[in-house]
Amino acid sequence: MAFTVAIDGPAAAGKGTIAREIAARFGFAYLDTGLLYRATGRRVLDGMAPLAAAQALRPEDLDAPGLRTAEVAEAASHVASDSEVRRALVEFQRRFARRDEGAVLDGRDIGTVICPAAEVKLFVTASPEVRAHRRHRELDDGTSYEAVLEDVRRRDERDMGRVDAPLRPADDAHHIDTTDLTIDQAVARSAAVVEAALPH
Ligand code: C5P
Repeated sequence: MAFTVAIDGPAAAGKGTIAREIAARFGFAYLDTGLLYRATGRRVLDGMAPLAAAQALRPEDLDAPGLRTAEVAEAASHVASDSEVRRALVEFQRRFARRDEGAVLDGRDIGTVICPAAEVKLFVTASPEVRAHRRHRELDDGTSYEAVLEDVRRRDERDMGRVDAPLRPADDAHHIDTTDLTIDQAVARSAAVVEAALPH
C-alpha cells in the first residue's frame, strides 16, 4: 500500500530527525531530497553544468561523502533555483514516494509540488536563531554562531523567494513549530498525525 508522508520546512528545523524517526517507527522508506540538490551542487562545484549534473544523478551519489559541508549547501541552494534542474529531479522523487512499503520525503516542495496528494503533510519550522544554534552545535568546525545565522537567513531568503517551487506550507499541512520542543516531543506530535491518517 503506497502511503506518503511529505515533510517540508527551512534548514535545521528538525525535518530530518522527524523524518528518520517516522520512517523507522512505521517501516517506511526515507528520502532526504536535499541530498539530490546537494549532490547536483557538488558536481557543479566540480565544473559540470547544472542540468547535466542533475540528469546524471544516480541513487548511489546520495551516499557520497562531503555532501554536508557549508560550501555544498550553498551550491545546492543555488542549483535549486534552476527550474530545469528541479524538473529533472521530479520523477525520481515521485517514484520513491509511491513505493509499496510507504515513504517519507523531506525537503522544501514535497507537499506543494512533488506530492500534492500525500496522505500526510507536515510543515516543520523553528525560529532562525534556534535553527542557527542547532546547526552551529552540529558543525563544530570553528565557524562562528553569527556566520551560521547569516547563512541560515540567506538560504531561507533564497528558498522562499525563488519563482519555481518556493518554500511555503501546503494549505492542508500540519504545522509543527519545534522552537520550544524537545526532539522527542516533536517526533511524538508528528507521529500522532501520521497515526491518525493511517487506514485502520
Ligand atoms: O535540506 P538541505 O539543507 O539538505 O537542502 C539543501 C538545499 O537544497 C536547500 O537550501 C534548498 O535550496 C534545496 N532544496 C530544495 N528542495 C528540496 C530540498 C532541498 O530546493 N525539496
